[in-house]
Amino acid sequence: MILRKKTKPVFIGPVQIGGDAPVVVQSMTCTDTRNIEQTLRQIITLADAGCEIVRVAVPDREAAASFGKIRERSPVPLIADIHFDYHLAIEAIKAGADGIRINPGNIKREMMKEIAHAAGDKGIAIRIGVNAGSVEKDILASYGGPTTQALVESAMRTVRFFEDLGFTALKLSVKSSDVATMVESYRALSNATEYPLHLGVTEAGGIVASAIKSSIGIGMLLYEGIGDTIRVSITGDPVHEVAVAYGILRALHVREVGPDIISCPTCGRCEFDVAGVLDEVEKRLSGMKTYMKIAIMGCPVNGPGEAAEADIGIAGGRGTGLLFKKGKVVKRLKDKELVETLIQEIRRISGE
Ligand code: SF4
Repeated sequence: MILRKKTKPVFIGPVQIGGDAPVVVQSMTCTDTRNIEQTLRQIITLADAGCEIVRVAVPDREAAASFGKIRERSPVPLIADIHFDYHLAIEAIKAGADGIRINPGNIKREMMKEIAHAAGDKGIAIRIGVNAGSVEKDILASYGGPTTQALVESAMRTVRFFEDLGFTALKLSVKSSDVATMVESYRALSNATEYPLHLGVTEAGGIVASAIKSSIGIGMLLYEGIGDTIRVSITGDPVHEVAVAYGILRALHVREVGPDIISCPTCGRCEFDVAGVLDEVEKRLSGMKTYMKIAIMGCPVNGPGEAAEADIGIAGGRGTGLLFKKGKVVKRLKDKELVETLIQEIRRISGE
């Protein structure tokens, strides 16, 4: 059982981060924000996949104007991601941003002050998003590079700056593309602060590389009770980020949401297209919210026993197969009926 560290809650729209809230899943659009329809389509796809907060880059004035129109129609709260130009943060806040992300490495203190005032007036939170690739020069010089201590110092120095202004609706991140640096930085940051932490491995690569790095980095921290919201960073369609994020949360039982599909690796006893059936079941159950452990097993002799912890499962055989629940066979079926019967039974149990 994981005991989560209790942090000071903040809100992004109606979504609570920190305190006793469940770990929140975030993602980020990769469309051109100026293209309102395309960006909205991606936000809706992410929301349908279970993403609870979406971050949108606001790189210029045109994007800031589009951000407002996108926000009006977004089904989930939106965070405006701002680099360099504080005017864009002010415009995004005016346009209805539910939160702002700034990188202290590329926004001057005077500009941060303006952002704090505007965010304070609207009652929205700011993420201090430190990134190993853009730590302030003086901090890099004193620590000799983007070390754990450098990342934490950058975050905490900015925290003190906002606190001196009386602004405390903060959440923090100290991302690195190096998993060990990321883990150690978040551990140190968690010891140094009560503000909620946004976890992520940055520039993590494609689906496989990112799933590995994120599962290790985010997973280790969550297992230690650290982290209030997560973003898995993947090059490509961000909808994969949501699937991997929920996979990490399910694997650690931090949040039990959606189907937890287990399948056997197959062996010489296999009499069934496990890979093909797995693919079909995953597709057909995508977007399901109810937690359920579902097994796809390759042979009827060992399958039900090997997957005894599954709530429901199928084991294929030569021409016939089994539907089982908690290791007990409940139906003998023709091969062709297996998937359909499994899906119908899952839908009946979940009501989805
Ligand atoms: S369930 Fe059957 S096919 Fe799959 S790994 Fe076990 S013994 Fe092999």
